[in-house]
Amino acid sequence: MISHDKGNKVLDDKLKTRLNYCTTLPSLPAVAVKIIELANDSDADIGKACQYISLDPVLSAKLLKTANAPIYKSRRIATNIRQAVSILGTHSVIVIALSFSLANSLMKDDTTDRPTFDSHVFWRRSIASALACRALGEKLALNYLDDLFLAGLLQEIGILAYAAILPEEYGKVFSSTSDHDTLLKMERVAFGAGHDELGYALLRKWHIPDYIALSCIASHSQPEPKSLGPNLQSCVAVSRYLADYFLFPHEAETLSTLTEAAQKWLNLDSATLVDVIKLMESGLESVEELFDIQIHQTADTAGILAQAKELLLIHNLSRMKELEEKSQRDGLTGAYNRIHFDETLRREFNLSSQYQLPLTIAIIDLDHFKQVNDNHGHLAGDSLLVTVVSTIFEQIRQDDTLSRYGGEEFALILPGTSLSASRNLITRLKDAIENITFKLDDLRTIHITASIGVASNNEGDMRFEDALEMVKAADSALYAAKHAGRNRIIEWRLK
Ligand code: GH3
Ligand code: MG
Ligand code: MG
Repeated sequence: MISHDKGNKVLDDKLKTRLNYCTTLPSLPAVAVKIIELANDSDADIGKACQYISLDPVLSAKLLKTANAPIYKSRRIATNIRQAVSILGTHSVIVIALSFSLANSLMKDDTTDRPTFDSHVFWRRSIASALACRALGEKLALNYLDDLFLAGLLQEIGILAYAAILPEEYGKVFSSTSDHDTLLKMERVAFGAGHDELGYALLRKWHIPDYIALSCIASHSQPEPKSLGPNLQSCVAVSRYLADYFLFPHEAETLSTLTEAAQKWLNLDSATLVDVIKLMESGLESVEELFDIQIHQTADTAGILAQAKELLLIHNLSRMKELEEKSQRDGLTGAYNRIHFDETLRREFNLSSQYQLPLTIAIIDLDHFKQVNDNHGHLAGDSLLVTVVSTIFEQIRQDDTLSRYGGEEFALILPGTSLSASRNLITRLKDAIENITFKLDDLRTIHITASIGVASNNEGDMRFEDALEMVKAADSALYAAKHAGRNRIIEWRLK
């Protein structure tokens, strides 16, 4: 599960200051505020819910329509709000009402429309994500479909917040890439926080229930090392790539990003994804009507979707197998494996070169590890390696990738991080490893140190030809650290 710490950690001072700018965003209507109050009240009763919803005739009508929509498969027909609540259940009504009133008021008041930021596209994508998120939950037999819809809808709200508070600067960043994950990195470099963090801050400011806000931010981090099965954040994470594919099936990138995300977060194959798209298709019309938005702008929705499904199936198992192998982690420690490292570094290196983004890597080699094995046995060595990896995991951020590079050698990729920005983290890592007290038994403990070689791309005049050159540089810095007496960090520099 997501811990509350994870949410708090990102709320640093910079972000809190930014949060105050958010007053330029549309404010929530009174009904939405009331409904949020209800959503946070574990004793909220059906009477109160009906009372608040009845205050807003449009909202009431939408809820009635929802309760009678085929997706709820109810045999009864609701003719008033009280009946709707009894069909849907109090919790669902509150969550559905929240989806409507937030989307409605934000779409209506939207002042973020500018040449570089098309808010209509934003809402089409958000509502398609909500539809996708719910469809995923339905396919995976989860029982909190309305929460999935709401979390899917709000996951990218930080983008809207950025467009509202920094229209000019954000517009430039936003329009320079169409790839979600690249956008996130560029935001971190340009503004010190991604739209996930800003969105989280905004949802907190609005008092949106924590489990929804946390799932939005957690869906932007990495999946937990050991899969916990489908949950809110993994569905939210996959839903945004599903939405992109659903909207733009012809763009080659959307297909491979979707299959990769679906595999990584939920272990889904293409056939399951096709079923999810079918569910989206069947819910499309009622969602378009309820939110008063046309998601597919051409008349030929059926044709587009038929093609989307076909493309997905062609993109068949061989590719999924390949991805599965690539995404595998090291069996002993849970760090990523070498293949994943090579691939991630190549991708990050290309991004770094293309957009002049800083990129730092560190190679960490444990000192005199052979002696640990010689003195205490290979099994003790193994479990010390596991401890070292979990110690490193505790220190790194969600964007950082830790891989087992060789036996007792690890590689860390720090995207968007300059050499100077990496120093704190890497020093902390070195110290944390040095401070491990590994208990062999009641009497004996083992201590270990590490030598670390660091290399940065786009640092001053430092530019590497390719990823391999960068690894070589970090390796030679590591060698120098060993030579200089171990338990130290050396940064590679131009001679
Ligand atoms: P230094 O790096 O400080 O020069 O000394 P070292 O003793 O760590 O150097 P070397 O690279 O020569 O040896 C690494 C040792 O790590 C050799 C091997 O026995 C041990 N090792 C590698 N992989 C594993 C593993 O999976 N489990 C255990 N227990 N030991 C491993
Ligand atoms: Mg070593
Ligand atoms: Mg070694």
